[in-house]
Amino acid sequence: MYAGFLAWIVVLAKFVPGPLVQGQPLEGGKERVWYRLNGLRLAMITWAMYYIFGFVLQTFPATIIYDNMAPLSTTVLLFVLFFSTYLFVSGLMNGKGKRTGTGVGAFVHDFWAGVELNPSLFGLDVKFLSLKVALVGWVVMNMSFAAAQMRVNGGRLSDGMIFYQIFAFVYSADYYWHESAMLSTWDIISEHFGLMLVFGDYWWMWFAFSVQGWYLVGDTSRIAPGLQIAMVLFFALGYWIFRSSNSQKNAFKTDPKALIWGKKPETIGNGRILLSGWWGILRKANYTGDWMIAIALAMPCGYTHIFAHFYPIYLISLGIHRAVRDDRKCAAKYKDVWVEYKQRVPYAVIPGII
Ligand code: NDP
Repeated sequence: MYAGFLAWIVVLAKFVPGPLVQGQPLEGGKERVWYRLNGLRLAMITWAMYYIFGFVLQTFPATIIYDNMAPLSTTVLLFVLFFSTYLFVSGLMNGKGKRTGTGVGAFVHDFWAGVELNPSLFGLDVKFLSLKVALVGWVVMNMSFAAAQMRVNGGRLSDGMIFYQIFAFVYSADYYWHESAMLSTWDIISEHFGLMLVFGDYWWMWFAFSVQGWYLVGDTSRIAPGLQIAMVLFFALGYWIFRSSNSQKNAFKTDPKALIWGKKPETIGNGRILLSGWWGILRKANYTGDWMIAIALAMPCGYTHIFAHFYPIYLISLGIHRAVRDDRKCAAKYKDVWVEYKQRVPYAVIPGII
């Protein structure tokens, strides 16, 4: 089942049409990779197929993933180890992989962080491909949770499950709608592809992001209308901040003269750092929006079990760690300009607080 899913994603990524675009120059050089932006079509085809064959025609049980969580998790973990090893060895053999040193410590670091910046397989960029496996698979898992709840709830979905499904669907579909914005993110430009990202894309984004859906299978309680409205508003605000801040940075990196909120962008450091839009209000507004979305994704579970809020807790912890690393990277890269930026925009995520 798992191998079939991976093969399906690879075949669609390879053959579904979509615009071919060149990414930003990669870290440490001028190399620019070409990417086919077909994620939205690929995602929609996959989700539609799961719905038609799992829910409507019942060719296979739509609960198949929920019913096989433990074996699937073990299979994915084994694949993660195998694939990370393959990437490590192939990166060193093709000469593109870089080791940071010798000895056990360096080996553990290099295996974890990866040796090659942008490995490719079947003519596809592996990092970009893996992001397709991650979020497309996440929604498929959610669909399986919905089917599992319907099985125990007289064929109906609870309020919480409906909101969770909608929020998760919007978040994932939006990601593929704005797939080009990923090309200016740190992961694509600067991070090597090793165990850390392989584990993140293949196991973590499936099993840790979907805890809420898993929890909601057994929670069919009603949600008061006032709370439903509050949840939707909180999600919508987070989504707007997340989307517009990431799009502003991407527009700026693609075309430094692109208008931001209808105005010419204000910059510092010879036009390298954007001071307009969200980037003039907070240094990490894209994290603020993402955190709000994560909190909203867990809201339908109520507040009786901390387990159901694992995803926002994790995302905020990860975000803090990433923000500190990114701040160090930018301080080293932009030097005085970064000091000036931090003076002009003193807060990173919450105005007046942090
Ligand atoms: P960012 O998109 O914030 O990228 C940081 C980089 O952007 C910096 O290294 C710098 O790169 C550039 N930059 C920062 N400030 C400015 C500025 N003012 N003007 C111009 N360039 C600037 O970080 P991430 O890649 O970590 O996050 C992207 C999105 O993905 C976020 O919304 C995040 O929440 C989300 N995300 C979600 C995860 C999840 O698990 N759900 C995991 C990780 C990220 P340069 O040196 O190129 O200028």
